[in-house]
Amino acid sequence: MRLSRYFLPVLKENPAEAQIVSHRYMLRAGMIKQQAAGIYSWLPLGYKVLKRIEQIVHEEQIRAGHIPLLMPTLQPADLWRESGRYDDYGQEMLRIKDRHERDMLYGPTNEEMITDIFRSHVNSYKDLPLTLYHIQWKFRDEVRPRFGVMRGREFLMKDGYNFDLTKEDALHAYNRHMVSYLRTYERMGLTAIPMRAASGPIGGDNTHEFLVLASTGESEVFYDDRVTELKLGTRDVDYDNRAEVLGICDEFTSLYARTDETHDAAVFEQVPEAHRKVGRGIEVGQIFYFGTKYSESMGATVVTADGSRVPVEMGSHGIGVSRLLGALIEANHDDKGIIWPEGVTPFHCGIVNLKQGDAATDAACEGLYKALKAQGLDPLYDDRDERAGAKFATMDLIGLPWRITVGPRGLANGVVELTSRRSGESEEMSAEAAVARIAQIYADHP
Ligand code: ATP
Ligand code: MG
Repeated sequence: MRLSRYFLPVLKENPAEAQIVSHRYMLRAGMIKQQAAGIYSWLPLGYKVLKRIEQIVHEEQIRAGHIPLLMPTLQPADLWRESGRYDDYGQEMLRIKDRHERDMLYGPTNEEMITDIFRSHVNSYKDLPLTLYHIQWKFRDEVRPRFGVMRGREFLMKDGYNFDLTKEDALHAYNRHMVSYLRTYERMGLTAIPMRAASGPIGGDNTHEFLVLASTGESEVFYDDRVTELKLGTRDVDYDNRAEVLGICDEFTSLYARTDETHDAAVFEQVPEAHRKVGRGIEVGQIFYFGTKYSESMGATVVTADGSRVPVEMGSHGIGVSRLLGALIEANHDDKGIIWPEGVTPFHCGIVNLKQGDAATDAACEGLYKALKAQGLDPLYDDRDERAGAKFATMDLIGLPWRITVGPRGLANGVVELTSRRSGESEEMSAEAAVARIAQIYADHP
């Protein structure tokens, strides 16, 4: 993309309404525009990152054997009357009447609807196990929408639902979700710690939240800091291997890590003092096992091998896709702007032309731009007629992890400059070497 033809409405001033750094940078970098409290338009740069995150979530769900579908945002109230949640949910639910005076609602989550789909089409234990998921907009009429996309009213969530014959099978589905979530966050360059949690309106007693440590997080967290060093890395997980999946879950949940709700001071005391940490965290996902809570009330049953009929075992599992943009920025920024991890960056690298209009410099930039694209990369070329300082400030603000700077002085020596946004370190090399280096970096970050 050429910046002169892109739509990147960068703000020079700090927006007064933004209290935390991610909200401030998302507005300043022209990623989002607020349309009403907690409701945002996703401008091109923000939309690009949102799509990258969505893509990683899809890939990891599919890798775990889960099946994508798409349910609507609007739901009939009658489904929620069946489970009893229409009255329980309270003011967070946006209730709507259509022209025929039928009660509708903008879905805050989809347990009822997916259970309805299941009971309409699945009848036999032979069709289990089954996990269906979608990535869809949700609406929760939060009392205090704030911190930008972090606590929106309309927000994008991945929500998945497992259907199993036995509790043992459903617990394997739960564990599979835990591992797939760990992989998902890790690919985004995030450390999200699974912490035992309380279940709230979803119900059930087995639940973990995934928290990203950040001083601006809304939850207080108590943890053994060795938990932040655990990594899945390149481990190739066989999701059908129950022992392997359980082993990973045990490894990632054996150290103390709890939110308030579930914190136990006496147990925490046993963590060696040097590792005992209290901090704050952002909830970027949660998994639940709730057994037959919905299948019983809504009549989602299957016929078993001996011909009897049993309610199906279920769980639900959510990732805050749009909240992740905020969490990623909280965890990756400096005083100049965002620093995107390679896994989610909107463009793979920036090209800064130091002397726009100079024939040789323009030609070198064009050559680089084409060579990067030929490698399947997505560069952002700052071809505006602007001062170098302004171009650097924009690149630093929008946070592309790599920048190639091209100017007449370097070109005279046959070199361009490759700069890492994270370390700030620069290296001179030929344009060909810079392209090869960037291609290699992204080959290592699929
Ligand atoms: P919270 O405690 O932050 O209100 P929740 O526990 O009610 O969230 P879940 O029902 O677990 O939310 O939804 C799954 C995920 O969706 C959460 O882990 C979070 O990342 C995201 N999410 C929930 N509410 C919002 C919101 N208002 N804005 C953005 N993302 C949200
Ligand atoms: Mg939650």
